[in-house]
Amino acid sequence: MVRDNIIRIRKELPPEVKLVAVSKFHPCEQIMEAYDAGQRVFGENRPQEFAAKVPLLPEDIEWHFIGHLQTNKLRLVLPYASMVESIDSCHLLDAVENWGELNDRTTDVLLELHLGAEETKGGFTEAEIEGILAREYPHVRFRGLMGMATNTDDDSVVEADFARIAAFKQRIDDRFRLPGFTELSIGMSHDWHLALRHGATIVRIGTSIFGPRNY
Ligand SMILES: *Cc1c(COP(=O)(O)O)cnc(C)c1O
Repeated sequence: MVRDNIIRIRKELPPEVKLVAVSKFHPCEQIMEAYDAGQRVFGENRPQEFAAKVPLLPEDIEWHFIGHLQTNKLRLVLPYASMVESIDSCHLLDAVENWGELNDRTTDVLLELHLGAEETKGGFTEAEIEGILAREYPHVRFRGLMGMATNTDDDSVVEADFARIAAFKQRIDDRFRLPGFTELSIGMSHDWHLALRHGATIVRIGTSIFGPRNY
């Protein structure tokens, strides 16, 4: 089943769009099913679970960390993550920079833009992101933006969120011209088709690949 889901989604995705298979709450056997279907990029959102899974799985997996990250958990995540998609505070960003300096490592990150109506959702304002990009973080490589649209069945609301983050990405590109700031990570199981229309370069899909999660 996982295999069929991967193949079906991959067929619909343009080849240049990266599929992150979000495997949180799912066991390694299911991850291996996706791996055996050719999937190599996986996303996890809880540091402990992430650190437990990584050593059990093939080394050529590209891991994206996509969840809220507390600064006291960096050592569980940063040594193994190819990208942290969910940088959502200056406190966290400073900590990632400091960790990189101490460990002589540069971390690829996306900055999370607060999208949608939910106040509970994390992320920066546009002004905060512009402030960050104007500063120097020698051990951080800014690779683009991440956003989660409003959780609603109303496509027009979701599309408005995606249009806003896409327009903001364009403004940043025009203003800062950062080499490597190429990624727009938008789109999950229920809205990735809409995200493609707004220039998604990364989609993060869990449920449509692995089925529902048992929290
Ligand atoms: C869980 C999660 C996803 C995947 O959600 P699905 O609806 O299961 O596809 C994507 N992005 C983030 C940040 C997540 O936490």
